[in-house]
Amino acid sequence: MTKHIFITGGVVSSLGKGITAASIAMLLKQRGYTVAMQKMDPYLNVDPGTMSPYQHGEVYVTEDGTETDLDLGHYERFAGITCNRSSNFTTGKIYSNVIRKEREGGYLGKTVQVIPHVTDEIKKCIRELDGNDIDIAITEIGGTAGDIESHPFLEAIRQFSHEAGTENVIFIHLTLVPYIKAAGEMKTKPSQQSVGILREIGIIPDILICRCERPMTEEHFEKLSLFCNIKRKYVIEEQDVKNSIYEVPTELAKQRLDHFIIEIFNLRHNELDLQKWNKMLNSVINPQNGSIEIAVVGKYISLKDAYKSIYEALYHGGIANDIEVNVRMIEAEELEGQTAESLLSGVSGILVPGGFGHRGIEGKIKAVQFARENNIPFFGICLGMHCASIEFLRNVCNYTDAHSSEFNYQTKNPVIHLMEEQKNIKDKGGTMRLGAYKCGIKSGTKTAEAYGEKMISERHRHRYEFNSEYITVFKENGMEITGINPDKDLVEIIELIEHPWFIACQFHPEFKSSPLKSHPLFRDFIKASFKYSQS
Ligand code: GLN
Repeated sequence: MTKHIFITGGVVSSLGKGITAASIAMLLKQRGYTVAMQKMDPYLNVDPGTMSPYQHGEVYVTEDGTETDLDLGHYERFAGITCNRSSNFTTGKIYSNVIRKEREGGYLGKTVQVIPHVTDEIKKCIRELDGNDIDIAITEIGGTAGDIESHPFLEAIRQFSHEAGTENVIFIHLTLVPYIKAAGEMKTKPSQQSVGILREIGIIPDILICRCERPMTEEHFEKLSLFCNIKRKYVIEEQDVKNSIYEVPTELAKQRLDHFIIEIFNLRHNELDLQKWNKMLNSVINPQNGSIEIAVVGKYISLKDAYKSIYEALYHGGIANDIEVNVRMIEAEELEGQTAESLLSGVSGILVPGGFGHRGIEGKIKAVQFARENNIPFFGICLGMHCASIEFLRNVCNYTDAHSSEFNYQTKNPVIHLMEEQKNIKDKGGTMRLGAYKCGIKSGTKTAEAYGEKMISERHRHRYEFNSEYITVFKENGMEITGINPDKDLVEIIELIEHPWFIACQFHPEFKSSPLKSHPLFRDFIKASFKYSQS
């Protein structure tokens, strides 16, 4: 029978619940348990796919093409879990299921209500994680205890625990123990009150994890234990980590969090093996090859979370090469009014990530041109590949009006155009080309050198694609097509042959990178950038 862990948050948002959940999953997996994970998001959007990155940060795409919360990225990166449709539910998705069932007459004349119908639907979604092959399922409840919109989720997990048997469920509450500068003290009251809110609903946390900037004293632990009704040893501290978020699991393991979870569930005791993880951390903390700077030229630069997986994948590329990677974030729009040198000189590599909308496009194209002409390693992803294609057709092949029909639908040279199957689609939510597709790799290229495989699979999220009418002129001018979708003949990767490293792809490799296994394209991009920095 699958055991369930529910992780709730209290006091404030942005405590790193996703990272904590992912760290717990990673530790349990290292102990030899099979783990599944999911996140419940209390907002009304059916999924985050239609939300602005400014609102929500990055939209993370799973293998099966679900557009999800970026916390799922942590789940996959930390714990190597493959997320899918059952890994992210929002209030919007839950309500659409309930309303669809009501329209089908599925409630047999009953008045449809939040309790029991919405809570039943939530429990059904939680049970999607159950399975013979899953020892432990972890569900993270988004939002903060006390939010009106999280209430049905909290009620549902209370009911779930009652029905599954309390011995099969652990509630972990993550709170903040703030340091009040003026008083020179850390305060436990907000955590006590947050646990109080859960108690009103009927949830008593088994484990309390306290985020804090400074170490807690024994007095803090005792106080929280007594007033929150939690055993002293189950009050865990999660201090801000010094070097890397990948230190969180090891810090939690030092306090034996994983051991306590196994103890409460009464599961067989397997040893924890952190050898590989610690080796990885060592190269994060003491990189042997110094540091390099990579420019990321994007549109949502002011928001750290908007390119979360890109930054992480660059970081992983650094780990693979024993190099510290620093990112210079550049607003593409700013590049439009300035010379490329003024903002880009000194960097060892340039990356243009995915994106939507016209703002900053010419700045991104300028960044591509600067990388191409100065032999600086370049990596274009999705919209970044579109920009690389426009730049090449304009400045190398002399089709000066080349553009993407996403931005100029009247151009005579739409090197990027709307995919055939997208032409009659009106709805915006969940209708892009999404999820994993195969791609055949051309041998004898840097793309092939990176992958070391003839057929790969990568995740997509886009409506526009490379216009195959331009394949010949690209090849004639030195831009090779190095990745092709075998079923639909779509161009997926382009590579400039006479350049130290210039690769752009239609898919999002950043979603498949992890600290223990850097994505090969990111690994080789960083390798080439390091080489450039030495030259
Ligand atoms: N806006 C482009 C498209 O829809 C690129 C999308 C992306 O970069 N994810 O095709």
